[in-house]
Amino acid sequence: MTNKRVVVIDGEDAAPEAMRPAVELIDSMSLGIDFERPLVGEAAREQAGSAFPDETRAAIDASDTTFFGSTSGASGAALFYLRWGKETYANVRPTKYVAGYHSPLKNPEGIDFIIVRENLEDLYLGIEGDLQDIAGLNVTSRTARKPIAELGVGKYAIKVITREGTLRVVRKAFQLAERRAGKKRVTVTCKYNMLRISDGYFRDVAEEVSKEFPDIEFETFIVDDFCCRLITMPQHFDVIVMPNLYGDILSDGAAGLIGGLGLAASGCYGDDYAYFESAHGTAPDIAGMNIINPTATLLSGCMMLEYLGFEDAASSLEHAMVEVYREGRCLTPDQGGDAKTTEFCDAVRSHL
Ligand code: ATP
Repeated sequence: MTNKRVVVIDGEDAAPEAMRPAVELIDSMSLGIDFERPLVGEAAREQAGSAFPDETRAAIDASDTTFFGSTSGASGAALFYLRWGKETYANVRPTKYVAGYHSPLKNPEGIDFIIVRENLEDLYLGIEGDLQDIAGLNVTSRTARKPIAELGVGKYAIKVITREGTLRVVRKAFQLAERRAGKKRVTVTCKYNMLRISDGYFRDVAEEVSKEFPDIEFETFIVDDFCCRLITMPQHFDVIVMPNLYGDILSDGAAGLIGGLGLAASGCYGDDYAYFESAHGTAPDIAGMNIINPTATLLSGCMMLEYLGFEDAASSLEHAMVEVYREGRCLTPDQGGDAKTTEFCDAVRSHL
């Protein structure tokens, strides 16, 4: 079997402090993966005159996947390519409680759901500008009952929900629900009462897809109601699918239920490519301290291993982390411990 090729982009601020030991740990499992770090970000700008040189794009194209550390901007062009260039439309963000996580809830046991965030559309198409630029459009506000020209000085952002974009991300959610043991339930949430045309379309298309999966329960909640339910009855949920902005916000909120962003993994899947990155940002406030929790990065690594076909290795790595949390002796400060990032990784390695 030929080795798998994984491009690693370490990211900025504290992200590399989680990425480097995580990659070392996965590398030490000797699975037949070649990790490569093409030039990107500031280093690439200095040495190659571009933050995202053609060689780096070619390395991504030739790879089986990319393991991406969070970026505060310097590696942003690479991230845009991984998302919009590779059409990775489904951002899959699991929230699963493990004994030993520093959850603020009294009863977090049994929390185990996945948020599937549409990853390419909605407000994230970045169609924004001055209101005066669109004042000539023959469009009237449904609520203020005024044409755009009469709204005053200001800015706009356009929310786009396409049929194809919704069909594919909702299908991905149902396919995930089919593969999971247990509840076999897909929940759709968005603001379909207020944004009847755009979010209403997302819900309607999702309902259409649900007919393809008669064995999976389908339910919908308006996003504000959903938020309350997520906090008061998180064990109810299985797979939850939603447009981009809600997914961005609610998946960080979901991480809070089990113990914070340090535990929030994610994988972004398209039809032909996927990449993996923790759901959290670069944690600039703790950069250089070797205390960033690498759990989110390692769990994203588990998702990556599964994607590459190393299912057994993925579950071994996950079990090793579960053991470290069960023991509770070597946890990073966000989980109430005083271990360094690298000490946590060493503890995980000792359980492999
Ligand atoms: P982004 O907008 O890119 O998602 P952000 O600015 O919202 O990023 P983060 O970088 O995710 O924020 O950090 C938010 C807070 O959570 C910070 O206090 C940070 O230190 C903390 N945090 C994030 N990830 C981790 C982690 N893996 N371990 C410990 N603390 C973390």
